[in-house]
Amino acid sequence: MSVSRCGSCTLCCRIARVPELNKPVDTWCKHCDIGKGCKIHESRPDSCRNFECLWYTNEDWPADLQPSECKVMFERLEGTDVIVAQSSRGYENAWQKPLVQRFIRMMVEREGYAVIVRTEGVHQKHMILPKNRTRESVWAEVKQFAERVGITEK
Ligand code: SF4
Ligand code: SF4
Repeated sequence: MSVSRCGSCTLCCRIARVPELNKPVDTWCKHCDIGKGCKIHESRPDSCRNFECLWYTNEDWPADLQPSECKVMFERLEGTDVIVAQSSRGYENAWQKPLVQRFIRMMVEREGYAVIVRTEGVHQKHMILPKNRTRESVWAEVKQFAERVGITEK
């Protein structure tokens, strides 16, 4: 993305999938001016407009939790109670840093979100669940989200 609060972080424009542009995960968007921002900001697709980077939307989150700093991008899947914490390529263990763990625990234990943890380019995922939810129910929610936004591949 990169608007004023994002500074030089353009991580979502690499990690996130953009169905309208056939842009897969973990690949730079052709419209990204890396480290600067979106070259088509005014006409960017709906999935970019609806993308919910939790650091961006929570102004009280600390500066060192910005994705470019902590190497983990927290995204809430639109319309769900599922958060995906995605570690930047080469920083597979970034989600285990105490600061990141503190926010994952807060979202799971206090807010009731399920958190799926993945690393760019790595197939394996972890899931951290609140007490009242199951892996199956969370995957069902993710599947519904994918269908709603037009994601057909795994
Ligand atoms: S990952 Fe978040 S902070 Fe970084 S550019 Fe995207 S919206 Fe901004
Ligand atoms: S269209 Fe713009 S906001 Fe969307 S992924 Fe590409 S560079 Fe980022």
